[in-house]
Amino acid sequence: MPSISFEYTYCSLPERFYQRIEPTRFPRPQLVRWNAALGAELGIDQAHWESDDLARVFSGAVLNPGAQPVAQAYSGHQFGQFNPNLGDGRALLLGEVRDLHGKLRDVHLKGSGATQFSRAGDGRATLSAVIREYLVSEAMHALGVPTSRSLAIILTGEEVWRDRSEPGAILVRVASSHVRVGTFEHFAARNDREALQILADYVIDRHHSDLPKDREGYLGLFERILDRQARLIARWMSLGFIHGVMNTDNTFVSGETLDYGPCAFMEGFKRNAVFSSIDHAGRYAYKNQPQIAQWNLGSLAGCFLSFVPGSESETTTHLEKLLIGFLPRYTGYYQEEMAKKTLVSNSAVTERLLDLMELHQADFTQVFRELGAVVMGESPRSGFWQQPDVVLWTQEWRKQVLTPSMKPEVVRQQLDRANPLFIPRNHLVERAIRAVVDHQNWNPFEELMSVLVAPFSLSVDREELGRPAQPEEQVHETFCNT
Ligand code: AMP
Ligand code: MG
Repeated sequence: MPSISFEYTYCSLPERFYQRIEPTRFPRPQLVRWNAALGAELGIDQAHWESDDLARVFSGAVLNPGAQPVAQAYSGHQFGQFNPNLGDGRALLLGEVRDLHGKLRDVHLKGSGATQFSRAGDGRATLSAVIREYLVSEAMHALGVPTSRSLAIILTGEEVWRDRSEPGAILVRVASSHVRVGTFEHFAARNDREALQILADYVIDRHHSDLPKDREGYLGLFERILDRQARLIARWMSLGFIHGVMNTDNTFVSGETLDYGPCAFMEGFKRNAVFSSIDHAGRYAYKNQPQIAQWNLGSLAGCFLSFVPGSESETTTHLEKLLIGFLPRYTGYYQEEMAKKTLVSNSAVTERLLDLMELHQADFTQVFRELGAVVMGESPRSGFWQQPDVVLWTQEWRKQVLTPSMKPEVVRQQLDRANPLFIPRNHLVERAIRAVVDHQNWNPFEELMSVLVAPFSLSVDREELGRPAQPEEQVHETFCNT
């Protein structure tokens, strides 16, 4: 059997950063999905492997000599409430792998069994939740959103009980690191300045090795983390994506998206849309996401304040200035994203379109995608474009984008490169999950994946996967279903 050379940099940190763990032995680990493209990026060629061996390695049943799997310690603000004791309760960091570009990537198993952080939980994940995360994270990647990736789905051979019995599964998740805002909060809550500095140094080594490990470097690090959040949220917003649980433990300092539980891509546009069944107050509504990111960064700033050397009052002033600048910075990135979607830099034009979409409850993804047909003077499928106020908007917009030097076909190509046809629509994700879980039928999953990996390309025989849900198919609520 070939082997994978794992590195273990996180384990070079002090013991209080993690729990060393003996992975749970599952009865019959079985590989049911392997992401060959991501595997290749990590230098793992599926052709050299027996599927059972991949299942054994990536369920933690077979470890390299000297392997050091760990469950990471972290805390976090969940819906605004601080919880000092979170941590990997059903996951472990198997090790790190250097990818083809020389970048270190975490290989993390989710659903891999109980740890000291499990509290009342069973440490397991259901196959439904794992499929959901696999589909959505890979779709996000193809849409150009920084995100954790999904390398494999492994059935554990166990049944897991939630509101009913379901197959248990492990998601093999790959990310550029798993350091969260909540990891910093963990040590700040314990007044452990030494650990905070060690953690900041680790993040610098992993993500920003050009920064010095001193006051200037730490302030620079904070700004880079903030900048990546601003870019990330701008990208989410431009796709109508609602994360659903933007807790600080679900916020990576790398600026990648993680944890696809109750997330959703909005269909009918509504600025205060909420899908998550647990978000009763709408804290994590679509339109609140920039402010929530700022809130999360505010909490991170508090952690930085307690370890950055030098004048505390100057540090406070500096961090406050960055935080105040977060929303304007975000808005700049958001407007850039939206300008790519409409090809006009006048944000009033784009906002007016969004107002009309909200008024007529038009499908977010479909409307933007149909701009390509609109610019060509074709009549797109959705009735939205026939509304008199929308017709007026269209006339104005076409005047702005169709300058004499711009051929409509060229404009269309640009629009189509920015506006996806395929997103993981809730009803399609649900259908794919049900087919696998209820009938062991992976066809809907495979069909959906085939369009999600190329979301901007027209796939004529799969066009129906690009259309919005019919009223009877609509999903209004999404569940954590951990
Ligand atoms: P999440 O909502 O997935 O971000 O998880 C929040 C916290 O709950 C983390 O500390 C998880 O490790 C823990 N957790 C979630 N589900 C389980 C489970 N089934 N067993 C043990 N811990 C869990
Ligand atoms: Mg989480």
